Amino acid sequence: MPELPEVEIVRQSLHKKIKKKSIQQVIIRNRNLRFKIPVDFENFIKNKKIIKVSRFSKYLIIHFQNEDYCLIHLGMSGTIHILDKKKPLKFTNTSFYHSPYLPEKHNHAEFVFDNLKVIYNDPRRFGFFEIIRNHQDLDKRFTSMGPEPFSNKFNLNYVVNYFKNKNKDIKSFLLDQKFVSGIGNIYASEILFASKINPFKKAKRLNKNECLSVILNSKRILKHAINKGGSSIRDFKDISGNKGNFQKEFKVYQQEGAHCKRTNCKGIIKKKITSNRSTFFCVSCQK
Ligand SMILES: [Zn+2]
Repeated sequence: MPELPEVEIVRQSLHKKIKKKSIQQVIIRNRNLRFKIPVDFENFIKNKKIIKVSRFSKYLIIHFQNEDYCLIHLGMSGTIHILDKKKPLKFTNTSFYHSPYLPEKHNHAEFVFDNLKVIYNDPRRFGFFEIIRNHQDLDKRFTSMGPEPFSNKFNLNYVVNYFKNKNKDIKSFLLDQKFVSGIGNIYASEILFASKINPFKKAKRLNKNECLSVILNSKRILKHAINKGGSSIRDFKDISGNKGNFQKEFKVYQQEGAHCKRTNCKGIIKKKITSNRSTFFCVSCQK
């Protein structure tokens, strides 16, 4: 499942390729996504000029010239492919999660520009498109969600107050989009390892230093993941492009049974499954 860093990589590639361009044609091959693509979608998007592509949490936001917007959520398995019309065999997968080859099946939507095509692929169909018709509605769209990890609102005061009397464990809070937006299962384990905090510790038991550690490591680890993917995406020039190398950076995620990577720690990484999610942590240095 794409998490915030992966969505940010997609945003950067899309922004670079489609800003200041107009969509000439929209082809919908299959409307069935998490929410059905509305019948007026093609007409709404067609001939609109794109100002920029931004992001909130795991939502891509396409900004059109006349204050119209299109949100794209990649769900579990959504990927966006950019095809150069002049070099049809050379294309770019904007996500570093998957193969750089354009899949033959599950290409739901095609956006045609003058010299390129943008294709949305989604085998599991949990992604969706959403039309937003003015600036006020865009602001309202995200008010029920917590701040992004990079936001100044994700600060010590906010976290300490939020955790008061909270019996839920810290890892559940990192995944709770009302508390903080955009942290998923992979990075939650990595952030708590870096913070030396046991994922199952109750949020109300975290002291100020531990809260601060969680905040700073959230920002640092997500930024680092973006930089890693960002540098690999620049090599995605053709079908022989390499995958991102973010996996090599994992300290605990999918490292079950391995020795702890922290210097001077002799602990072993353990995997625990709760409500269908795997949590990875060091039994020795995460208290
Ligand atoms: Zn350890």
